[in-house]
Amino acid sequence: MNSPKDFLQLTELLFPELDGSKSGGDPTYFESIFPERSLPENAFVTRLGPSPTGFIHLGNLYMTFINEKLAKQTNGICLLRIEDTDRKREVEGAVESLISQLVYFGVNFAEGVMYDEKTNAISEKGNYGPYYQSAREEIYKTFVKQLVLTGKAYPCFLTEEEISAIRETQEQEKLTPGIYGKWAKYRDRTVAEYETLLSEKKPYVIRFRADAPDGSQMEAMDGIRGKLTMPKNEMDVVILKSDGLPTYHFAHVVDDHFMRTTHVIRGEEWLSSLPIHVALFEALAWKLPIYCHTTVLMKMDGDKKRKLSKRKDPELSLSYYRQEGYHPQAILEYLLTIINSNFEEWRMENPDATIDNFQMTSEKMGTSGILFDLEKLQDVSKDVLLSIPASDLATFLLDWARLFDEEAYKVFSADKRKLEQILDIGRTGDKPRKDLAYAKQIRDFISYFYDEFFVIEDAWPENATNDVSLLLKDYLESFNLADDRDVWFDKIREISIKNGYAAKPKDFKKNPDAFKGHVGDVSSVIRIALVGRASSPDLYEIQQILGEEITKTRIERSIT
Ligand code: GLU
Repeated sequence: MNSPKDFLQLTELLFPELDGSKSGGDPTYFESIFPERSLPENAFVTRLGPSPTGFIHLGNLYMTFINEKLAKQTNGICLLRIEDTDRKREVEGAVESLISQLVYFGVNFAEGVMYDEKTNAISEKGNYGPYYQSAREEIYKTFVKQLVLTGKAYPCFLTEEEISAIRETQEQEKLTPGIYGKWAKYRDRTVAEYETLLSEKKPYVIRFRADAPDGSQMEAMDGIRGKLTMPKNEMDVVILKSDGLPTYHFAHVVDDHFMRTTHVIRGEEWLSSLPIHVALFEALAWKLPIYCHTTVLMKMDGDKKRKLSKRKDPELSLSYYRQEGYHPQAILEYLLTIINSNFEEWRMENPDATIDNFQMTSEKMGTSGILFDLEKLQDVSKDVLLSIPASDLATFLLDWARLFDEEAYKVFSADKRKLEQILDIGRTGDKPRKDLAYAKQIRDFISYFYDEFFVIEDAWPENATNDVSLLLKDYLESFNLADDRDVWFDKIREISIKNGYAAKPKDFKKNPDAFKGHVGDVSSVIRIALVGRASSPDLYEIQQILGEEITKTRIERSIT
């Protein structure tokens, strides 16, 4: 079977519904309804193609952010296409929660599947849809037909049992697994044979006809990895499954062509199948987009680096960051540090710029396992939170508490002004404090301001354990909220001297036997009585926020 007439007959047998009467079966029709986009010359058209399986992970955000930023900074388009050709894996509500989580973290799609949280409605935006692959059957079939018509695809009736048997033999004989060469036994049948098989209603798939195996290599350019040399595709891979839906290989090729994608940015797990995709683009005589294969997110486990795992690492799930209360701005800032190797240098040179001013590039992306480090995220977050005004931070914290910590919400929301003052302690000046990292940590960090949460957590300083009540009594007696900072501290020095403590740490160091301790120990006693912890931001400011009554009550509470 190798004449155009045979191929035509076979397509008629396989796709009787695509008779070219409407759009179906006419490739030029789709070329005309999905024209080249009119965008600036170097604009990127990118896309995210998630499968709606329900688990939304950090990688989704990481990928969306890359796709969206590259598109935005070139005045291009980033679209969302739902790759739902595997109906078995589909989970209800997955698309809605994917979009709302991504939007929460500040990334958006300009085109494709949209979700409005308020009305709980899904819609599609753009002229290159449908954007659900399951709704594009006719388009895929048109191009499967096209491949059959040009002798580049054929129906294959191998059963699952036959395929397993082939796999076993190939394993035993140490051969490359797959359907190719002599294993591809439905490759070259006559039209009459195909007709008989079809009339027997045997289930079949359509396979792409690869060049005969000859071990040759191909070259491809990767936007991140540069020039790649890889073995050419020699497998007759499935392009249309027996349920009439395409495989990923075929669907993404058709979609990225007709959605006019310029850059296919995807995970490195797809790198090994690039030769299949290149061969499909060639067979359809379409222009190859630029493939960019990102690398996997890894973490340190002891002294070993390993892939983040769904089972072991809660931080792989995107919802983790929302529950812990990481600010979206902090997450994106951190992602940039792992996406582009030159970002941190840029940030040092441009401390006040927004990340929109940073030019992301695929060339500066990593190629061999990016280390995702929660501690580093927290450090970055501390810096980012410093740039957010206290009133916004208070709103953020309240929004988080409303969803994840009812008790804290009740307590914090009773006095928003007080919350703002608390969040603002020590944030100005040359050396601002970097205490605040994420909502859950902030909630614990500031909890002592509220009687509802106040507990004494730390032990009294060793040098002053026996004098706690004496020192606090003196403090209470001398206490006046209206004192300025110097007067306040002079009083603490006086109390120290009176009770046998050095007024300055250096006096104590010089002559330790002459004192019980020094002014630091006395301050610690006051600090622990007031905030329950041995370290805290500036005590003077804390007292100003706590006010006279609470300050005095707490001091009294520790006098026994
Ligand atoms: N559906 C594929 C996935 O979830 C998309 C890969 C791609 O971006 O092409 O891995």
